[in-house]
Amino acid sequence: MIFSNEPGPEALASVAGIRPSVYWLDRSERPTSAPALEGVHHADLLVVGGGFTGLWAALLAKQADPGRDVLLVEGGRIADGATGRNGGFVSASLTHGFHNGMERWPADMPTLLRLGHENLDAIEKTVGELGIDCDFIRTGELDVAVEAYQVAGLQHFADSASAMGEDVGFLDQAQVRSRIDSPAYLAAAYDGTGVALVDPARLAWGLRRACLEAGVRLAERTPVRDLTARGEAVIARTDRGTIRADRVALATNAYPPLLRRLSHYVVPVYDYVLVTEPLTDAQWSAIGWSGREGVSDTGNQFHYYRTTQDGRILWGGYDAVYHRGNGFGPQYDHSRESYERLAEHFLQTFPQLQDIRFSHGWGGAIDTCSRFSAFWGTAHGGRVAYVAGYTGLGVGASRFGAATMLDLLDGRETERTALEMVRTKPLPFPPEPVRSLGIRLTTTALQKADANDGHRNLWLRTLDRMGLGFDS
Ligand SMILES: Cc1cc2nc3c(=O)[nH]c(=O)nc-3n(C[C@H](O)[C@H](O)[C@H](O)COP(=O)(O)OP(=O)(O)OC[C@H]3O[C@@H](n4cnc5c(N)ncnc54)[C@H](O)[C@@H]3O)c2cc1C
Repeated sequence: MIFSNEPGPEALASVAGIRPSVYWLDRSERPTSAPALEGVHHADLLVVGGGFTGLWAALLAKQADPGRDVLLVEGGRIADGATGRNGGFVSASLTHGFHNGMERWPADMPTLLRLGHENLDAIEKTVGELGIDCDFIRTGELDVAVEAYQVAGLQHFADSASAMGEDVGFLDQAQVRSRIDSPAYLAAAYDGTGVALVDPARLAWGLRRACLEAGVRLAERTPVRDLTARGEAVIARTDRGTIRADRVALATNAYPPLLRRLSHYVVPVYDYVLVTEPLTDAQWSAIGWSGREGVSDTGNQFHYYRTTQDGRILWGGYDAVYHRGNGFGPQYDHSRESYERLAEHFLQTFPQLQDIRFSHGWGGAIDTCSRFSAFWGTAHGGRVAYVAGYTGLGVGASRFGAATMLDLLDGRETERTALEMVRTKPLPFPPEPVRSLGIRLTTTALQKADANDGHRNLWLRTLDRMGLGFDS
């Protein structure tokens, strides 16, 4: 099925009463903000950014060395960024999927797969040990084919991933429709153990609590304005204070970076999400979705969707919007056009739910890099380290990203730092205006490929050969 982008009257009605706010964050249990930082401070380790990467970095550093003075500084509130806005798919994949990893790092892939599963297991274990109530469920993910040409691709994925020991099986049309009954589904690959689902805000708030209990100092509403090296330390300047830190871990994702070099490698790409009102029993039985598997369709422009603990469906993806000059900010957090298009696609997937109503809609920035998976580096003589570039798959990988960043910062040679993925950088994006032009060309070519049985034109084939891509 090729998704029609023209919203019909049912789609327009379904989003008419939408609340432009993030369903996960829009709750009274959201912790009150920690005080902003004022005056002159010192820290052994300064972590900048309070999303999953920063929270894991602070927690892992403190767990490894309780005597280390760790200060976490967040510009807004914890989980304000992508961490509070995502679909909550916690993937074991560190490489933005099996195929991308095999293409780029075939020799390291067995290690990357094992480390990815260990990382997911460690997240589950931490959630259990710390008693974080975040609806962490290990239900797996269905990648569904909605067009005939996608079926062979999923069969190939299931065969090659299972040959590498992954728990991925192929489901034919009847098998996938017996799990979730969409007339759009033709087949699926089901990854049974490599993906969990989580309530991302509750996980972040639980990690925030764990950081505080472990002795991490936390300042919120404290943007770091710049970093300068001074002697053996790094000085971070905030609006009302300074921090003199021995080491700095940068966990600022798609936000305007504190190191200029990062803007060559990362472009912020906006992705939008809808959440329905809770479904009635009749609506659930109309689509027969009784498990809690996450779902993703498999075009270049894809949707991801899942159920929530209180019986809603979260539906996001498809549009991946880049704004010229690495445009970033709250002015891009909502898009009526994207909401209407997403609602139309939802109804094309589930025509049984014509009377559905969406309650929430929001967007968030994805830190897209040209190889789709995280990269690391250091600056200021090794006293500053960073990780970025998860490209829309960082809920799980951020823990690995943080652990690897700490390895680099502390000068530890580990299995992680030996990986080619960690030792190399993605190809940079060209400067503007070529950047905007290239992204527009690529997006149009990907749309055409989706409408044309997946056939990639000369432009996409050239990018493929160069190992360059654009994804969300
Ligand atoms: C709509 C959407 C859906 C997604 N769905 C999924 C999904 O289902 N599964 C998945 O794996 N991934 C998904 N992702 C990606 C995932 O959310 C991110 O990869 C992950 O949350 C990144 O975490 P982070 O901590 O690196 O970044 P963020 O959560 O963005 O945190 C960065 C933090 O740094 C702070 N900051 C920035 N600059 C400064 C500064 N100068 N000083 C102080 N603080 C600063 C920001 O305020 C922010 O809180 C999605 C992303 C989006 C936007």
